[in-house]
Parts: sequence; structure tokens; C-alpha cells
Amino acid sequence: MNINKLAEQNYNWVERMGWHNKTTLEALALVASEVGEAINECRGEKPTAEFPEELADIVLRVLDIAHWQGIDMEKALKAKMLKNEQRGTRGRMK
Ligand SMILES: [Mg+2]
Repeated sequence: MNINKLAEQNYNWVERMGWHNKTTLEALALVASEVGEAINECRGEKPTAEFPEELADIVLRVLDIAHWQGIDMEKALKAKMLKNEQRGTRGRMK
């Protein structure tokens, strides 16, 4: 499944649940809260079995914002990866 289709499917589910935020700032704050949850799953020697689910929460919240704002994430991701590749190391050591 294409990432934009996943974004649409997830957006529609969140909408049915009545959980959408009023502002992009609120929605971004929830991305940050999911990052916090993912951090908590990494406090031990190794990430816990719940770590993949928290990573999924982060991605789903980002995709939800993208769909809401009419952003083609497949296009945005490919464009950014190309831009990163063209920038090279920007002086950073490997
Ligand atoms: Mg979570």
C-alpha cells in the first residue's frame, strides 16, 4: 500500500473516532508525546517489545497531519531523500 493511502486510511479512522485536533500545533505536540513514549521504551539496555508500536504511533500521527494538510508524503519523502543525497556529508566526518 502506498504511504498516502495509509495516511488517508488512518486519517479517516481518526476522524470517525472524533479525535482530530483543531490546530497543526496541537497535532505536532501529540507527535512529540509519542516520541516521549518511544523514548520510555528505550530506557533499558535494549528497546522493549513495545518500541515498534511507539514508532508506528509517531509515523501515524505524522501521516495524519500530512493528509489533513494535503501533503503528498511519498513525493515529500522522495524529494527530501534526494536533497539529502545531493548535499553529501556537508563536511561531517563519517
Ligand atoms: Mg503511543
